[in-house]
This record gives sequence, structure tokens and C-alpha cells, in this order.
Amino acid sequence: MRLCRFDSDRLGVVDRDVVRDVTGALDVIPAYRYPLPEYDVLIANLEKVVGRAKELLSKAPAVPLSGVTLLSPVANPGKLVAAPVNYQKHLDEVKGDSQLHANNPAHTVTIQTAGLFLKATSSLAGAGEGIAVVKPDRRTDHEVELAVVIGRTAHHVPRAEALHHVAGYCIGLDVSIRGSEDRSFRKSPDSYSVLGPWIVTADEIPDPGVLDLEIAVNGTTRQKSNTRYLILGVPELVELASSFYTLYPGDVIFTGTPEGVSPIQPGDQVRASIEGIGTMDVRVRAAEAPRVAEMSEGLSPSASRA
Ligand code: MN
Repeated sequence: MRLCRFDSDRLGVVDRDVVRDVTGALDVIPAYRYPLPEYDVLIANLEKVVGRAKELLSKAPAVPLSGVTLLSPVANPGKLVAAPVNYQKHLDEVKGDSQLHANNPAHTVTIQTAGLFLKATSSLAGAGEGIAVVKPDRRTDHEVELAVVIGRTAHHVPRAEALHHVAGYCIGLDVSIRGSEDRSFRKSPDSYSVLGPWIVTADEIPDPGVLDLEIAVNGTTRQKSNTRYLILGVPELVELASSFYTLYPGDVIFTGTPEGVSPIQPGDQVRASIEGIGTMDVRVRAAEAPRVAEMSEGLSPSASRA
């Protein structure tokens, strides 16, 4: 099943070019009280939600897919885990381009040495929300990646059992400012983790290690590869991540990007596709300039002493 979140937090089942509104299926999610769980409550109850959505489907109103605003299919992930340099040809291009490695030795080591990193959950956006460029004076790149949504709590899960812990898959864009800073800083501005266009439940993708993926900017293909070239595949990434911290339902793993990363700028139109998931169109715009009051506050002597 292809489940989307759209417009004002409505739940939809995507069927070719229509979305069937099954928002009523959210009623099976139990009410939670403070403190809220550290997992996404829809993904934690996904089987029940899907079951109810199937019951509602025949009478669900259909709206054209082209007319809805797609939000992130996971609303409240506890963490966004990401794999750096997880395709050999991307590692090669990073090593060969000073704009990409920025003379930071941490940017040119293998994933086995680098480990994983985290992106701020506030960087999450849906395909319909677009990418808002915050540092127009610096190179900002697209990175298309297979994104894995965890479905069952995973703690020290061996690779052979890893796929049992996966709820489904999305296309992920790990938007990245190039420079010498830590990855978690350069890759965490608002809207720099695009997830979408919907979540495809894991039953539709028995093997995540054989999927074509690609991205085009303004109609020109920039990255085109296959997840078979992942250095650490999905099972290995779940094993590695869950050996350091517990993965909860709704946690997302961005699996890394293949070669061909290139700059994007306001006005660009990005189209990303992954086999078995679909295609998403994402608009790039300039972030709103900070308000004058905030700027002067930030520059005041008292603020700089703080
Ligand atoms: Mn990446």
C-alpha cells in the first residue's frame, strides 16, 4: 500500500493518479498522554491503520494526486539517521573534488570509519513543501537516497533479521550545504530532509537492494544508480545503527547517495524516482529572509556576550 499525508494532515491511499482519503483510519490510533512516546504513533500502529484504511477504501472520496500538497509521510520520527559516503563512486567523487570534501579529512573516509550521522528532525519536509535554500552564497547539493522507515523497535538486530523491522520505504533527499562543518550541521536546515512522496509498505518491496534510483534537475539527469551498489545495504545499516542506539517505529534511515551530486538553487525543479516507490517533484525556493528585528537582536552587543 502507498500511504500519503496530504493537505491539512489528511491520510490518503495513493492509487495511480488519485488519492483516496482514508483519514478516518487514524481513529484506530490510541490517544496518548504527556510525555508522548519517542516513536511515531501512526507507524507504531501501522498494521491497524492499514487494516482500517482497506475497510474504508471502497467508499473513500478520490481526489487527483496532482491537486494535493504532499507532506512527509512520517510526521513525527524520533530520529533521522543517515549514512555518509555509502556508494564507492560517490566516495571517489568526494575525494576528487575539494568543493565536496572541503579539506576536512572526516569527509573522505569510508563509511566503516565514519559511521552514521543524525539530521535534525526539524529538517523534515514533504515533496509538496519544497526545499528552502538558507545559504544562497554557499554550494547546496541534492542527494537522492533510498529512505527506510523502521516499523518495529530494533535493538541489536542482526542483519539476517533486519528487514522484519522495516515498515516501508520512501524517497529521501539529503540536501547538503558543502563546507568544512560537521555533517549534522550542514544537512539539518529546515526542509533539508525531504521524505516522500509517500510510504510504500515493506510487503511491496521484498528486496530493497535491487532498486534503480535517479534524480533530475530542470529535466537533466544528475544521479542515476541502483541500490545494489550500496556499500552497506539496508540490513547492514539496521544492524549497525541498532548496535549503537535503539531504533523506534518511525525512525528513518537515509541510506546514502550515489555519484552525481550537483548544486541546486532557488527556482530549480527537482524530480526524484526510485523503482517500486514512485516519483516526486520538489520545488527549490529561497528561504524567507530573517526579520530585521531578529537580525538586529542577534547582532547586539548583549547577544554576542551571551
Ligand atoms: Mn547523504
